[in-house]
Amino acid sequence: MTIADNLAANLADVKARAGGAAVIAVSKTHGAAAVREALAAGQRMFGENRVQEAAAKFPALRRDYPDIELHLIGPLQTNKARDAVGLFDVIQTVDREHLVDALAAAMAKTGRRPRFYVEVNIGAEPQKAGVAPTAVGAFLDYCRAAGVAISGLMCIPPQGVDPRPFFTRMRDLAAQYDLPHVSMGMSGDFEIAVACGATEVRVGTAIFGARAGAA
Ligand SMILES: *Cc1c(COP(=O)(O)O)cnc(C)c1O
Repeated sequence: MTIADNLAANLADVKARAGGAAVIAVSKTHGAAAVREALAAGQRMFGENRVQEAAAKFPALRRDYPDIELHLIGPLQTNKARDAVGLFDVIQTVDREHLVDALAAAMAKTGRRPRFYVEVNIGAEPQKAGVAPTAVGAFLDYCRAAGVAISGLMCIPPQGVDPRPFFTRMRDLAAQYDLPHVSMGMSGDFEIAVACGATEVRVGTAIFGARAGAA
């Protein structure tokens, strides 16, 4: 098989295993050529974790494929909020009030209105980004007041333990606050995430292969 065949086969396999959930192909660290193979295989939703890397890759791809839907799935610094609002269709990592203010200002300046999700620190891990599960309600109130409409939740559950309780709590939080999008599950656990209620999964390695270095 050629590399392109391989990627198309991987993609088809992931889609089949993801059932009804949408598949976001996480293309971080992979070059535009790999993204083009995925586009040729029909994929349109992509995830990147760095604003600069996405800005270098995607504008040219968008000219050829205007229906690309680009998701930011990595941490966002407030000084990059404007670039992110200009580039991404969905920003999944809204996690603090200062960033909400910066996103509101960026929307006012650019006239662009991407979709926003709140990142939840579902395992309440001290080293991890995200809003504490118990603080989600108050944070959503803050976002609403600032004019930043939230339509989903995303999480990365703790490593090395059964993710099911965390995925289930995410689904329950999304239902409690009436949020239609639940972004959870990666190459190693996306089928479990879907079984627990994920509406979209973020899959990199299982589609594009291993990344060089850790990212
Ligand atoms: C890299 C990344 C993924 C994809 O990880 P894989 O294990 O390669 O599927 C998903 N979500 C986030 C937030 C990531 O940074």
